[in-house]
Amino acid sequence: MRRFLFSDIAVIAATSLIVTVVQAATPPAKADVAVAVEVEVEVEVEVEVEVEVEVEVEVEVEVALSAAYAKYKDLQEGANADYIPALAKVDSNIFGIALVTPKGQIFSAGDITSEVSIQSISKVFTLALVMDERGPEAISQNVGVDATGQAFNSIVAVEQYKGAEMNPLVNAGAITATSMVSGSSREEIWTRILNYYGDFAGRELSVNKEVFDSEAATNRRNQAIAQLMYAYGHIKDNPAQATDIYTEQCAVNVNVLDLATMAATLANGGKNPLTGKQAMDIENVPEVLAVMATAGLYDDSGKWLYLTGLPAKSGVGGGIIAVSPGRFGIAVISPPLDAAGNSVRAQKAIADISNALGGNPYVVKPTE
Ligand code: GLN
Repeated sequence: MRRFLFSDIAVIAATSLIVTVVQAATPPAKADVAVAVEVEVEVEVEVEVEVEVEVEVEVEVEVALSAAYAKYKDLQEGANADYIPALAKVDSNIFGIALVTPKGQIFSAGDITSEVSIQSISKVFTLALVMDERGPEAISQNVGVDATGQAFNSIVAVEQYKGAEMNPLVNAGAITATSMVSGSSREEIWTRILNYYGDFAGRELSVNKEVFDSEAATNRRNQAIAQLMYAYGHIKDNPAQATDIYTEQCAVNVNVLDLATMAATLANGGKNPLTGKQAMDIENVPEVLAVMATAGLYDDSGKWLYLTGLPAKSGVGGGIIAVSPGRFGIAVISPPLDAAGNSVRAQKAIADISNALGGNPYVVKPTE
């Protein structure tokens, strides 16, 4: 399997660009006519090569997606989350893969229409919203950006440093981040969050009412975490409202194409490659990706990064998104989770696909 395919395109595209620039700068003197003709031929050849490589890449991506789909379709490992009663009822066989490039090409395999609740993947986008509104320091100072080494809903982790040294991708940090979104009423805050997510997905999203009600009726642990973050001064007021909005953001419904588009927006400097809308401030993208790399798969984040090198985020609804900066956003939905709360098939499929496509940003060619 060849690697560095996406960079091949970039190199060839850059070569064409240089030739074009040289051509434009050449004055149309008679003596240069022969040279000019030669250059034109060269340009045509370059463009043809570029198209060929693109087709080759497309085939390679399609092959990688269908191979991973076929390999893991029948894998029966893990179990649906059941601490939120409505999640236990979701069809465990849902399995869909989607990859979106910064150019807006869409690739998929399996189930692309079933929707699941976004759950913890939402934390990434609320984090981005708070950074856009208040700057990255607001997060690093009030929430922290370090891995906790504990489960996503750990109370021990909050107690250890009195709610500091957390990160916005575990529940304590995420509920605190939600409490930091601006708005003069619950309605205004909620609308801002939902619309912001929609800009990343490229369509209007909505809430799975059953999941929201089910979690709201059983989320006593998150309520306790929010009270603690309030007691330690990280949530400034109304921890109950912050928990309620956080619970609603986790219940937003998404299909695998939505998630891949959200990931691709992060891979593309915060600009949605399908709609062309700048969904978030480009300057905050590196920090968001850094937190994803540090804590996106909870206490298994190190193992994941070791395996793939990709910033990623999982949710107990069964989705995982991963970002290969400048190259692609990828998402998989499959509800059965492992002990850390990460989708079993999604981890395996994304790792295989990304490694096949040379998606690991730490893999570089040495200079000649
Ligand atoms: N809503 C879920 C919770 O707070 C999200 C957790 C997750 O996806 N890991 O427990």
